[in-house]
Amino acid sequence: MTINLVYDQRQCQGVLGVGAFSQVRKVTHRKTRAIRAMKVISKSRLSTTELQQNFINEINVYKQLDHPHILKLYEFYQDEKNFYIIIELCTGGELFDKIIEKGSFSEKEASYVMKQIMSAVLYAHNQNIVHRDLKPENVLLDITSQGNYNVKVVDWGTAKIFSPNQQINEKFGTLYYMAPEVLKRNYNEKCDIWSCGVILYILLSGMPPFGGKTDLEIQKSITYGKYTLDSDVWNSVSAHAKDLVSQMLQYDVQKRLSAKQVLEHPFLQLQHQEKVDKQIVQCRLKNLVNFRAEQKLQQATLMFIGTTMISKEEKNQLMQAFKEMDQNGDGILTKEEILETYKKYMDDETACQEVQKIMDLVDMDGSGTIDYTEFIIATMDRKKAVQKEKLKEAFQIFDKDGNGFISEQEIKDVLGPSITGIDEKYWMNMIKEIDKNGDGQISYEEFCAMMMKIIQ
Ligand code: ADP
Ligand code: MG
Repeated sequence: MTINLVYDQRQCQGVLGVGAFSQVRKVTHRKTRAIRAMKVISKSRLSTTELQQNFINEINVYKQLDHPHILKLYEFYQDEKNFYIIIELCTGGELFDKIIEKGSFSEKEASYVMKQIMSAVLYAHNQNIVHRDLKPENVLLDITSQGNYNVKVVDWGTAKIFSPNQQINEKFGTLYYMAPEVLKRNYNEKCDIWSCGVILYILLSGMPPFGGKTDLEIQKSITYGKYTLDSDVWNSVSAHAKDLVSQMLQYDVQKRLSAKQVLEHPFLQLQHQEKVDKQIVQCRLKNLVNFRAEQKLQQATLMFIGTTMISKEEKNQLMQAFKEMDQNGDGILTKEEILETYKKYMDDETACQEVQKIMDLVDMDGSGTIDYTEFIIATMDRKKAVQKEKLKEAFQIFDKDGNGFISEQEIKDVLGPSITGIDEKYWMNMIKEIDKNGDGQISYEEFCAMMMKIIQ
């Protein structure tokens, strides 16, 4: 049975979320009219038949998962291009967005949220399933009719069935939340506890315990394993809360608490509202808002890339080609290096003409050399010209006044409504990152370059 016969994708259109390889949208069941979420996963994500078969096997196991804090998986379809997973629809959005919208978050609430996440984790671990990608984007909220919320853990597509005492050796997950032993590719289900420890740390302070400007820096910080519980925002956090954080972020896997032990910890038994220090709550929120902005930009960018840009495979091929041409390996192609390669494939005169065409097209800053990004943009499959058009459209979404440049205000206008209260400094830094020529605004070329960086 094909998906379109069972589910209507048009009735209530709406993209609920995007990941690097998937898109989640609302659909209606044609017969029952039930509204569900449909996750579409491109098969190109799973390149071999074996990987695809593993994926299907695992999906069948998740179908059996039935727990109040795990989003229910209903059905599973596939066609030539994609897998389609039909899931229970969650109406409250992602955890962090809700916190920011509410404008306050107490220890009691952190305890309430963590308890629900951990009960889902315990249930999964008892079935020998490790999630491996626990992070705030995968924690959704379901608003109940009484106005309360329920936590739902999603994204079990990367989870893994383990046998007790088995050590797993695939690298998986998202850097901020990744346990040190996952980086070393030798881990077990306790990696989920670490990730939840990171979530709890952020819930209590608004900041990630292991940070850094680049992936490498974050990775180093995790491997080093040191984090602080001493800064201003931590001063007013209760001893129970700090104790639980440190036991979940315990470096030694043997000593790290199990899901069952976390649930028994006094912090998760917290019943009474603690005294709330307004200033501290403000500080916590401000931190969280700034941290979230970074992800919002990435998400917005991914949304465009998912539909508009080249695939990872294509990028890899182009990277290969780039490396071949870059004879001295400095990451920059000179006109001579390109000419050298072209001469292998065509006569000298044609080669000269072709290379001149490329230089005219891509040497955006007129330096006589081409860097990696310029090369990729220039050599993207011609057939994808339409997609380049779409990238232009994406640019125009930001460029509200149509002057060909994106200003700080325009970025704020597009990304701002969902992330209010951000430091002025933060927006300025964001622009600085993207604005390579330092004129205080983002040109189309700079925009393209930023997009390219995300597909890593
Ligand atoms: P990925 O593997 O790409 O991370 P996810 O399953 O985490 O995919 O879904 C991506 C995003 O889509 C989530 O972070 C969430 O915001 C949204 N989402 C996923 N499933 C649902 C759902 N059932 N109801 C509402 N939103 C959802
Ligand atoms: Mg996800």
